[in-house]
This record gives sequence, C-alpha cells and structure tokens, in this order.
Amino acid sequence: MNATIARAAEKIRQGERLTPSESLQMYVEAPLPLLGELADLVRARKHPERVVSYIIDRNVNYTNVCVARCSFCAFYRPVGSSEGYVLGFDEIFRKIDETIELGGGQLLLQGGHNPDLPLGWYEDLFRSVKERYPEFRLHALSPPEIIHLTRLSRLPIRDVIDRLVAAGLDSVPGGGAEILVDRVRKILNCYNKATADEWLEVMRQAHRAGLRTTATMMYGTVDTPEDRIEHMVRLRELQDEGGGFTAFIAWSYQPEHTELGGSEATGLEYLRTLATARLVLDNFPNVQASWVTQGGKVGQLSLGYGANDMGSVMIEENVVRAAGAMYCMDEVEIVRNIENAGFTPKRRNMHYEILGEPMFRQREVRRVLNLAVAREEGDTSVPAELANYPARSAAEKRRRNGDNFFSGS
Ligand code: SF4
Repeated sequence: MNATIARAAEKIRQGERLTPSESLQMYVEAPLPLLGELADLVRARKHPERVVSYIIDRNVNYTNVCVARCSFCAFYRPVGSSEGYVLGFDEIFRKIDETIELGGGQLLLQGGHNPDLPLGWYEDLFRSVKERYPEFRLHALSPPEIIHLTRLSRLPIRDVIDRLVAAGLDSVPGGGAEILVDRVRKILNCYNKATADEWLEVMRQAHRAGLRTTATMMYGTVDTPEDRIEHMVRLRELQDEGGGFTAFIAWSYQPEHTELGGSEATGLEYLRTLATARLVLDNFPNVQASWVTQGGKVGQLSLGYGANDMGSVMIEENVVRAAGAMYCMDEVEIVRNIENAGFTPKRRNMHYEILGEPMFRQREVRRVLNLAVAREEGDTSVPAELANYPARSAAEKRRRNGDNFFSGS
C-alpha cells in the first residue's frame, strides 16, 4: 500500500476529513477490501446499533412527457407523443390507497418536465392529496423539476418552494443530480434542465425553507473518477452549510433503450463508489444501498460497504425499468436480505426516524411480487382536470381542439 493511501486510511480511522485529492486517490487506488473495511467503520460509528432501515413508499411518475430530453433517459416521451401520459388526480389517489394498504405513508412523486402542467396543477394536486390523506407524506419534485416550474411561473426558486410547501410538499428527492459537473451535464444534455449550481441552489433554498432532502449521483455515463469526487465534495460543502441532506444514494447508469447507449458499470465499481462516498461524505448521516439497479445480492453486500439503509420497498417503478433494470423486492424480501446480512431491519420515514418493526410482522400484508406501472399499456385516457389549466404547447392546444394529427411521434 502506498504511503498516501495509508495516511488517508489512518485519517479515516481517526475520524478526520479526507481532502478532495486524498478522496480521489482512495477511490482510484485503494484496494477494495480496504475501502470496504473503512466504510464499514464509518457506518458503524454513525450507526453502532446495527439497524438497517427502509421505507414503505411508492415511486410514482406523474407524467412521462418531457422537454428536457436527457440523452441517458429511456423514460421520457416528447410533447405530443401518443405514448405520453399525465396521471389524473383520481389515479394518484388510487395509488395512495394501495400504498396505505401495504403499510406505506409516502409517495415519491417525480416526473418529466411537461410544459402543459403549470405550478397551479401541482398545488391543486398536493392540496387535494393532503385534504384526503392528512397524514400522508409527499416527497416530491427533484431540483430540475423545481427549476422547470420557476421557468414556467417566472418566479424565483424560493417562491416556488414556498408555494409548494404551502400546498403540502414535505420533502425534496435528490433526483436529477446525475453528476454535478457542467462539462458532463452538457454532454448528457442535462445542462439546460439544471446546471450543477442550479441543482445545488434548489437544495440550499429547500434546506433554508426547513425541508429535508436527499442527494443522488448517477455515474457511469461519460464521467471520470475526478468528476465523481467533485460531485461528492460539492454535496459535502452544501451539507456543511445547513445539514439538510438526510441521505446519499448512488446508482449506475442503465444504458438500455437510451440515446446515449454504452454499457453498465460493474457491481465491483458500484461497491467501490459506495464505499468511497461513505468516506467522503462524512457529514451525511445515511447512505442508501441501490438494490433497484444492482439487484438484491449486491444491495445486501452494500451493507458491508458503508450503506445503512435499503431504500424503498418497491411497489411501482417506471424509470429504471425503461432502461433495462428490473428488480423487485417487497418488504418480506428486503427484511430477509437485511437479516441474512446480520443486521436488524426497521421501518423508517423520510426523516430517517424509526417507525417500528416490519409491517408484515404486525399485520397481514399482501405480497408484491410484480411491480406496478404508472399506467397500464394502451391506456391513453386524458384526465378531465387537465382542462382546468391553460395548454402551453402547440401539441396540447391542437389536442384540445380535437386535432390529433400531431400525436404520432
Ligand atoms: S431524466 Fe427526467 S428530465 Fe431528463 S429526459 Fe428523463 S424525464 Fe426528462
């Protein structure tokens, strides 16, 4: 082992912070077993009770219509596409009913940048959810979606956040970060949807508004190890300002059906990235295992490489599945994976407060062996309430005029 790696390892053992260059050197050169050992040490320091948490929530994508057109995304459909959809409020209520039936208390609600859904649509949706389900939580709208709404509404970030909070927003998911380096974002065609600074500014404003948020990283497209470390360091700096991030979640790019193509990073690279993140992000209380992209076994291994949380029980998934990955674990499976790895499973909420023992051990819960989708194939219904909001795109104006010739792409 070279002297720099040995020194950096000693710093971790002493509870000291790695510099960016030490972080990079560890990421690129440290033997994987050493990274795992150190990440596990940090995990044990932060979570000595050997509890691994998870949440029962539902991942709902309210629309797949998107003007951003990121080159790594297999989920979106362009405006006017016959495969584009917007979920109706009633459909979302049904999904909430099913989530509650499975013991869940939250929706993770994210979607495309649909120009025909103004800020008022989101406010009405959130209000109507909170009226029907006052205790139910909305973990909704990643920073690029909030930037999209600032552009549509011509309001500053903080005003959009305040209006969403007044309507019922509880917390902000860390999606759309990809890699927070503008050189990479330009190549991936996601610079225009939100620059690195814009993504971070939304999170800064959300934290100042009292919201807790997560942070994510999607690696393995055109990014270098330097880019990944820069991403982690920028998150660490923002966390130093206010500490509003609850958790960090990394996953590898899923290339199938995307414009960008390429191949997927290996499970070993995932473990190396996860462990390094646990070392660099010394001010993040929690690190999630991404079994949705890595599968249950690597997800389980993650618990020895710094992760202390198994993320969400899967009820519905649309985005990762569109890009070729499809792993399904219901609560029984997640708990089995956690216990087989020697940890104690506990249910949590978005704030990572422990809610209790597994739900299925307290009452009968239906098994979920197949993931639901946003919409059944062939369902092209358009929600009636959309007529309450002005159409902005030419395609939507034409559709409302009964002229559908535009809907073939
Ligand atoms: S990743 Fe999100 S913003 Fe980008 S094209 Fe897909 S749906 Fe749109």
